[in-house]
Amino acid sequence: MWSNVIGEARVKHILTSALEHGKLPSAYLFAGPEGTGKDAAAIELAKAINCLNPRNNGTEACDECASCSAISSFTSPAVTFVHALPGKDNDREESEQKEEDLTVIREQRAAKAADPYFNLEIPRATSIKIGQVRELRLALSRSLAGSKRRVVIISEADMMNAQSQNAFLKTLEEPHADTLIILTSSNATRLLPTVHSRCQEIRFEPLLVDEIAQALQEREELPEAQAAFLARLAAGSYSRARQMIGENVQQMRDEIVNFLRMGLSRSRKNATVEVDRFLPRSAGGSYLEKRQAVEQRLMLLTLWLRDALALATKAEHEIINLDQKEALVRFVSRFGDPQRIIVAIGCIDRAMQLTRLQLQLRPVMLSLIVDLEAALL
Ligand SMILES: [Zn+2]
Repeated sequence: MWSNVIGEARVKHILTSALEHGKLPSAYLFAGPEGTGKDAAAIELAKAINCLNPRNNGTEACDECASCSAISSFTSPAVTFVHALPGKDNDREESEQKEEDLTVIREQRAAKAADPYFNLEIPRATSIKIGQVRELRLALSRSLAGSKRRVVIISEADMMNAQSQNAFLKTLEEPHADTLIILTSSNATRLLPTVHSRCQEIRFEPLLVDEIAQALQEREELPEAQAAFLARLAAGSYSRARQMIGENVQQMRDEIVNFLRMGLSRSRKNATVEVDRFLPRSAGGSYLEKRQAVEQRLMLLTLWLRDALALATKAEHEIINLDQKEALVRFVSRFGDPQRIIVAIGCIDRAMQLTRLQLQLRPVMLSLIVDLEAALL
């Protein structure tokens, strides 16, 4: 049912009208920021198309029939869900690595099936490979009995490199009447124009604070006040809001403000101490967990600087960290040049991208301090 998809009323309207009038294109591109429910909407659309007892003039899945439950659990032959798979790990035995990868992939897909807002996090899965595209093409050439329309969902389709995208282009160029292709992407500009132009694009907007807060209360049973706080920090992303549940976000944010303050105090010694404090303390935990923790902190830092920017540009109504207003005023009295704050936010974005390239976290954070100094001082 469409209520499984949070907010995005405009998107739902476009999709249900297309279903109602039988005007689905051969390919959609669901584009928009991470955590806005692009995969969730793709899965919901696949269910509505193949539902055995669809509701509302055939525009809404029942969530009860065999087809709906098979699609929800990623076991339906009618729906192919394509995502990035791990590349070769040169340090490991191939057989040993393969088995480990399969276990992770199975776990990750199960988590995604349980909750379409879950972001797949598969180590070394940096691209959708040409082999996967060829396999898909082969699968599509075989006919499929029993389902109304086959749906292929390519999650984060921009993970296809140029070679994969070119191979995929052939599939887009020869549409099958019984197949709907849905690309989802948080970085749609990385798609080749030839791929982009063959898809009907549907833009997903950042979710509203109230929509996220309500979903956190209903789905995660969070108390109202906590839901509202996390929703404000989530910057339009439900996935991000949910990642922060169970974290002591206030404390984390205070540490981050300290990190910034010490980082800007021009004392190298302080800076390294603060970096070590900034990095997740636990010696255990996978790189992925550590990276997520660092990303979360960087996100809080970005939000804090955006608040400083709002204050510096007299847009106080946009401030998210309302309980930090005094600290923000103090910060802006020293570092209040809007241009410089924008550059600093760019430095954090870059650090965030570097952590995604699986680089060592400590050097990335140390160079971030140097960059922030250069930007703000
Ligand atoms: Zn159904």
